[in-house]
Amino acid sequence: MTGGSTAPTADPAPGEHVLRRAADAGLRLTRARRAVVAALEACTGPTTAADLAERLTDVPISSLYRSLAVLVDAGVVARVHETEGTARFELAEDITGHHHHLVCRSCGTVIDVRPTSSADDTIAGIVEAEAARHGFTATGHHVDIEGVCAACRTP
Ligand SMILES: [Zn+2]
Ligand SMILES: [Zn+2]
Repeated sequence: MTGGSTAPTADPAPGEHVLRRAADAGLRLTRARRAVVAALEACTGPTTAADLAERLTDVPISSLYRSLAVLVDAGVVARVHETEGTARFELAEDITGHHHHLVCRSCGTVIDVRPTSSADDTIAGIVEAEAARHGFTATGHHVDIEGVCAACRTP
C-alpha cells in the first residue's frame, strides 16, 4: 500500500524548483519540511500522510502533519485524490511537471504517469474542444485512469 521506492535518509537538499517555490512563498524549509519534500520526491505517486510517517520515522507525527499543511498552503505540495477521508499528497505539478494518475480502485494506490507530448497534445485537443463547446476557457487538465493495480490483480 506504499506509493513508491525507499526514502532517502540524511537531510537531503530539496530540488531547485522546490527552493524557488518556497522562497516565493516566503517559506522557511525547516528540517521536517525538507524531510517531507524529500520523501515526496522519492515516491512514484501521491502518498498518504500515514505512508509518509512510515518513511519518516525521525519526524514526529504532529510535525509531519503541520509540515504538510504549511507546504500545501505555500503551493509546494498538492493535496490530491481524497478518498474515504484519506488525502494523498504530491509535489505541486509546476515543480514535478505535468502528469496524469493511475488510480487503483482496490487499494487506493495512485501512480504517476507521464504521457508523451504527442499523446498529451491529443488529450489537450479534446479538452479544448469540449471547453469551447461550453464557452469555457480551459487552463489545464488532469486525467485519472481508474482500474486495478498490478499488485491487486495478482492473487
Ligand atoms: Zn491496488
Ligand atoms: Zn495531460
